[in-house]
Amino acid sequence: MMTDSSQRVADAGLLADSIRLAGLKVTAPRLAVLRALSDSPHSNADALFGAVHSELPGTSLQAVYGVLAAFATAGLVRKIEPAGSPALFERRVDDNHHHIVCTRCSVVHDVECAVGHAPCLTPADALGFDVRAAEVIYWGLCAQCQLETTHP
Ligand SMILES: [Zn+2]
Ligand SMILES: [Zn+2]
Repeated sequence: MMTDSSQRVADAGLLADSIRLAGLKVTAPRLAVLRALSDSPHSNADALFGAVHSELPGTSLQAVYGVLAAFATAGLVRKIEPAGSPALFERRVDDNHHHIVCTRCSVVHDVECAVGHAPCLTPADALGFDVRAAEVIYWGLCAQCQLETTHP
């Protein structure tokens, strides 16, 4: 049985490996942002800053934005931008999964690719494009909000 602290060291090793594999230098803020994203997927920069700041008080919000931009460019994180919401980030990058968003409380969940491969939707006319991906966001009321709106 590993103790909590040795588990944390092992996790840090894995996080560092994935940063290196993406071709980036491992730094303390990058490790902290990636750990925060592992703990809470679909987080925005402000929320990640909150998590990182308690661990590394010297980190600025601007630095967190910089880390996220580098991660997104390197393909280490995926950025999603539901209308009316700040950009959200997640580590799940290697599939064509979609998102379902609550119009009332803004909770975001992953949903599997509707067809099973990208691009999940084929346009009636692709206008000569080689279409690689279709980004789908399903909007609706989550189960909790349905309860709260029918039994206020
Ligand atoms: Zn909701
Ligand atoms: Zn997702």
